[in-house]
Amino acid sequence: MNINLLPKLDFARHCKEKQWIVLFWPNNFYEEWRQHGVAGGSLRDADPTPPEKLLQQIWLHQRIHRDGITTIDGQSVRILHPGFWNHEAGPDFRNAIVQFGNDPPRVGSVEIDLSPSFWQSHGHESNPRYRDVILHVVWQGSKPTQGRATLLLKPLLDAPLEELALWFAAEELPGPQASIGKCSAPLRNLKGESITELLRQAAQVRLHRKATQLQARARETGWEQALWEFALSALGYKHNRWPMRRLAELNPWLSGNSKNPQSLEARLLGLGNLLPRESKAGSVHLHLRELWDVWWREADAVRSLILPRESWCMAGLRPVNQPVRRLALAAGWLAEGRMIPRLERWLEQSLPDEALPRTLEAAFAVAPHPFWQSHWTFRSSIQGTPQPMLGLTRATDLAINVVLPWLWMRAVASQNDSLRRVAEHRYFAWPASQDNATLKLARLRLLGETKSALFKTSSAQQGLLQIAQDFCNHSNALCEGCPFPELVQAWQVRLSGGVQSVDRSITPL
Ligand code: SF4
Repeated sequence: MNINLLPKLDFARHCKEKQWIVLFWPNNFYEEWRQHGVAGGSLRDADPTPPEKLLQQIWLHQRIHRDGITTIDGQSVRILHPGFWNHEAGPDFRNAIVQFGNDPPRVGSVEIDLSPSFWQSHGHESNPRYRDVILHVVWQGSKPTQGRATLLLKPLLDAPLEELALWFAAEELPGPQASIGKCSAPLRNLKGESITELLRQAAQVRLHRKATQLQARARETGWEQALWEFALSALGYKHNRWPMRRLAELNPWLSGNSKNPQSLEARLLGLGNLLPRESKAGSVHLHLRELWDVWWREADAVRSLILPRESWCMAGLRPVNQPVRRLALAAGWLAEGRMIPRLERWLEQSLPDEALPRTLEAAFAVAPHPFWQSHWTFRSSIQGTPQPMLGLTRATDLAINVVLPWLWMRAVASQNDSLRRVAEHRYFAWPASQDNATLKLARLRLLGETKSALFKTSSAQQGLLQIAQDFCNHSNALCEGCPFPELVQAWQVRLSGGVQSVDRSITPL
């Protein structure tokens, strides 16, 4: 499947979120539950004036056209980091990193409002908490806010507002709530296969959400660049997604004509401001000197693109997750430049389910790196045995969050039904990811237990997360107003009356 021969995305573009789910999974009752449950509320609220929370979510996830944007008065602006959502008094986002024109990047707050006039009418002007606001993001308006750079959000959206409203209705989990939820009793009354089916349908919704986000970016930058940006972002984990994404956005400059992995590593680490200036003698010193030999020649020409150190959050990061290590892997991918054909070959190969993680890890493998295979970081001592650059756990994260949604959506866009089914089969057959606190909490609340026996596949885990996000996020620790228990009960009655709708559209290989 040659990427350049793919038909344009018109087919995919004109299908709305719900229509797609109906198209590929006609019996997905879980999507109906979402639409009629709390998740649908945001959608209805979205028109004609979107709630500010929705605008904040759009900003947080940067569901906007990020390239070539300008403020209302025509100044170019790059969002290097959208900032951290502030749920206390004061501006909506703290510690954002924004670059105006070719000026050095600025760190400060971002305030989101419906209109520039809110700056005065909400009293931000005279409130000292808002003094460090460097960007006022407004839904609509024609004049900039006095004394603040002002960005219009409405024309920048990367998808229709109602589609984004439904997408965000399922974002973020609530804070830690250890109590068992009201739905746990009706869920425990269901037979094992019914719970499996429910999780599967919720996982279909989740696959679709990730795929539509990738597709929105692919409309702007192409499929290859969208894959690259989301893969690097996923390698940034929770805290370093944005600097990794920003470096991925610099790909056209990064790659240039060079296929030399060392030059590419120097550029990635140099642009990321992650090259230490000093080192002890020995292998670290030697490797750093080679990287600096490249970077000092190039740095001046791209000084305005270098990320500030504040972009990165290194506190509490395990050595294996350090961005320097992941960027060295990314340099290998760029140098070898055969990522898309490799993934295509991987999808087209006939593989047993148990071989999926190992074979995907192999598809992502690069030539052994003389320095990074024996060092975790620039500070660590030499390791006795070669260290993997990716590993099976990260390969699984990439598969579930990026690779399979990307392959699935590309097959949809090219109307290649057999490859779509293979991507779907692999998504549902993928072995379970590493357990974590979020999954444990969701299991406890919804099923009243923390054992993971039901969750042998990643898709079951994804389905559980989707339900928790769709319903728990719109309720509280006491499950007040949550329609999920009633929906489960009604479904149970239908099942016991013999009315069962089960999607059999996934063909085993
Ligand atoms: S909020 Fe709803 S879905 Fe979440 S635990 Fe309570 S009843 Fe279950």
